[in-house]
Amino acid sequence: MERISWNQYFMAQSHLLALRSTCTRLTVGATIVRDNRMIAGGYNGSIAGGVHCIDEGCYVIDNHCVRTIHAEMNAILQCAKFGVATTGAEIYVTHFPCLQCCKAIIQAGIKTVYFAQDYKNHPYGIELFEQAGVALQKVETNEMKLELHHQEKKQFLEKIFQELEKDHGKQAEVEKLKREAEQLFS
Ligand SMILES: [Zn+2]
Ligand SMILES: [Zn+2]
Repeated sequence: MERISWNQYFMAQSHLLALRSTCTRLTVGATIVRDNRMIAGGYNGSIAGGVHCIDEGCYVIDNHCVRTIHAEMNAILQCAKFGVATTGAEIYVTHFPCLQCCKAIIQAGIKTVYFAQDYKNHPYGIELFEQAGVALQKVETNEMKLELHHQEKKQFLEKIFQELEKDHGKQAEVEKLKREAEQLFS
């Protein structure tokens, strides 16, 4: 049995959170982690109780939606709300943080930023991270091995092979396909 890594696990959590986003411009998720424990999570959306961009449309000024609070900010503010320390923590974000969030991350004492995908990676943000000694690491999406219905797929393939084997003229081809399938499922 293959275990997913901590990086894959926490990034998967951020991808799940992104599905809760209420802004139509970009769906972002962020998870704050300390000692391999999730301490907070956020997605981009309006203030609690506010109208949602998905219902009312974005409130755009200078090409930015001003209604939303970014995922990273929401996760940090959740820590503030409940009095959870962020010093030395790590953050997993689906997109490279904007400049404002870069500064908030630094100021909250977060020491590592894992991101799944580049997003306008602001050079000043990168410079500030370097100055503050914040490590940046990209978690490639091909590292995300989240497979659903593994057993069902395997059984379905076995059924197909059983049917194919009834055609005795194709034995060699079937054996080759079986080996390929084995590699895929190992
Ligand atoms: Zn919006
Ligand atoms: Zn931001």
